[in-house]
Amino acid sequence: MKFFHLLVIFTITLTPLKTITAQTPVAAHGQLKIDGNQMLDEHNEPYQLTGMSLFWSNWQGKFYNYDVIKWLRDDWNVNVVRAAMGISPDDNSGYLDRPEMEKKKVIDVIEAAIDLGIYVVVDWHSHHAENETAEAQAFFEEIASTYGDYPNILYETYNEPETDWKTIKTYHESVISSIRTHDQNNIIILGTPFYSQNIDQATDNPVNGDNLCYALHYYAASHSFYNTVETVINKGYYVFVSEFGTCESTGDGYVDDENSDTWWDFLDQYGVSWCNWAVSDVDEAASIVKPGSSIYGNWSSNDLTESGTLVRDKLQSYETDPIPNDIPP
Ligand code: CA
Repeated sequence: MKFFHLLVIFTITLTPLKTITAQTPVAAHGQLKIDGNQMLDEHNEPYQLTGMSLFWSNWQGKFYNYDVIKWLRDDWNVNVVRAAMGISPDDNSGYLDRPEMEKKKVIDVIEAAIDLGIYVVVDWHSHHAENETAEAQAFFEEIASTYGDYPNILYETYNEPETDWKTIKTYHESVISSIRTHDQNNIIILGTPFYSQNIDQATDNPVNGDNLCYALHYYAASHSFYNTVETVINKGYYVFVSEFGTCESTGDGYVDDENSDTWWDFLDQYGVSWCNWAVSDVDEAASIVKPGSSIYGNWSSNDLTESGTLVRDKLQSYETDPIPNDIPP
């Protein structure tokens, strides 16, 4: 009889506790915003997004599925993923040539991120978006009108521009206006000149508007432009590393674990958010898994590449919001 009572008490106490403490990143941090050179959560506390970028959707769309996103959340401790929708690759396999197919992959990832309570960057993965303004406006308008009420969504309007800032800025202003018609507050990440490396040029003549920040891309074996980034941060702008590699700027070559650590220390010091390139099994250094690994996650340490091992270790070193086991799929 006594034992029975004890069991009842345990059941009663444990159930509400679990509900209170077990929160996903989005449940815990809610609507994000940009305040000067910081990202803040809904409690006005500085918050840093750290996670993985998927590869070009047109070439590695097989990883754009719920199981991979869940594995990245639960095993890799990500609080953000980036859906890199390929737009106009040379082989015409991207969104401009098969819009419904590529859009569906991105929506699958958005829906997974919402279900799993993590953030998701919706990336127009192009090098020539200034020639795709109308298409980008229509796409982001649809995403913003459908998902703009969810705090999960961040927009990245232009992955890696190759043109001048004046042209890029005009493009951003058009796409921002389309997004803001439907979503007044979610964060928009703005690509910057020379493959999103020259953030100083962009922030010398910044885009007007709220909750905007600037993309920085680097590859640890090729780049060490810390001073430029520090200058931009000190000017009062938030920098978002929407893509970086531990390897050379080709996405291949060698993995520079030492400079990867130097970069990570720098990003952590300033609360800069980051997404690593990339969830991919292409046979190159930037890929996190070896060719032929499962397309549904559940990767063993043998499946991981040198970069995958390095990045997973780093992600697991961050404190995390406790993830419940019983989140409905
Ligand atoms: Ca919103």
